[in-house]
Amino acid sequence: MIKFFNTLSGKKEIFKPIKEGNVSIYVCGMTVQNRPHLGHMRAYITADLIRRVFEHNGYTVKMIQNFTDIDDKIIERSREFGMDYRVFGEQYIKEYIDSAIKMNILQPYYYPRATQHINEIIDLVEKLIEKGYAYFVDGDVYYRTEMFKDYGKLSGKKIEDLRSGARIKINPKKKNPLDFALWKGAKEGEPYWYSPWGKGRPGWHIECSAMSMKYLGETFDIHAGGTDLIFPHHENEIAQSEAATGKTFANYWIHNEMLRIKGEKMSKSLSNFLAVSDILKEVSPNALRLYYYRTHFRSPLEYDENSLQEASNSFERIERFISKNTSGSGLDNELFDGLMRNLNDNFNSPKTLGLMFAAIKDANNGIREKSTTANTVKKVLEIIGFDLKEEKKNEISDKIIDGIVAIRDRMRAEKQFQYADMIRDELNKLNIEILDSKDGTKWKIK
Ligand SMILES: [Zn+2]
Repeated sequence: MIKFFNTLSGKKEIFKPIKEGNVSIYVCGMTVQNRPHLGHMRAYITADLIRRVFEHNGYTVKMIQNFTDIDDKIIERSREFGMDYRVFGEQYIKEYIDSAIKMNILQPYYYPRATQHINEIIDLVEKLIEKGYAYFVDGDVYYRTEMFKDYGKLSGKKIEDLRSGARIKINPKKKNPLDFALWKGAKEGEPYWYSPWGKGRPGWHIECSAMSMKYLGETFDIHAGGTDLIFPHHENEIAQSEAATGKTFANYWIHNEMLRIKGEKMSKSLSNFLAVSDILKEVSPNALRLYYYRTHFRSPLEYDENSLQEASNSFERIERFISKNTSGSGLDNELFDGLMRNLNDNFNSPKTLGLMFAAIKDANNGIREKSTTANTVKKVLEIIGFDLKEEKKNEISDKIIDGIVAIRDRMRAEKQFQYADMIRDELNKLNIEILDSKDGTKWKIK
């Protein structure tokens, strides 16, 4: 049984699939106008965790994650760089996929791109015009927001409140300030596609409606994305899709909170500052995954430089514990069930990690069996996306440290204390602490 918080109902619910044993998930992917940064990756690691938990529970998961590869900002920025918008977007698509592979994120069933679905988008817009939910004005097509009775059901916003909100820009073409563009007529020099309304391009919201329904059907199980997309993007997706089909669009909505820097949402200008592919030169993909998992995805994640390093040290400790203690195939079933139960309950990764660290501590203190604990920890980490193939490397480095410590013991025996201390100080710089005692020398990672 998997339960999780559904933004649509505003409460935790037990998941009931449309088709027994199957889950269909749509995740809003990147608008490829900039480098993928730590904030973007939080959404995709969250989606990957959700998918892995479902798969562990025996579900077949069909996940779709799009790329928005045409958009006002893409046009604007590609011009600034003097590049064709397609070439401009492609570099970020490539950078995203490279980073996702490094992060051990399972590949979606498909990565659809908006520009490859212009026909589906045009069909959907035509349907909305036929049903009276959309209107054509001077090259553009707009959605008639007030026609859709359930508008606001995801975000909890009310049309009346939105109408009186002063922040909506006045566009004289719109019949109502809340109406939004489904199709935008092309201005001079902009990329365009032919449509029944002349040359133009799709609006952002309609792309996701067209692509999700094409691959997952008119009603699918879960729609995911960041909380910044709830309004207006996801609200508009619901309005368009449900008006066109007369059916529920997605049964469950899962939203991850934002990564913040000093209390502010990670902004686009910081894309270079915290680009995922740069971060991965500093810390391992496992450490970065641990960094995300330490905070529940429904809580804001406050970035600071130290927390990445902490996650890195923390993961090294787990790895060492595993490489020193795994043997055989015996599991601690009670521990395993306890760790997985927390994941089945709102994908609670911090709770699972907390239990895991407590178990490791107990095993190190001799109050829990080491090998079954290590085997269990390893198995759970692999289920939730950590790549432990690196383990061998640690086994070797442990043996090298053992060797250095043995040489130091020999020096001490021969009273070459000056060199023995030098070795101790050098190891100390690597966070390796030497513990001399009557029974011989031991070492540990600080
Ligand atoms: Zn979307």
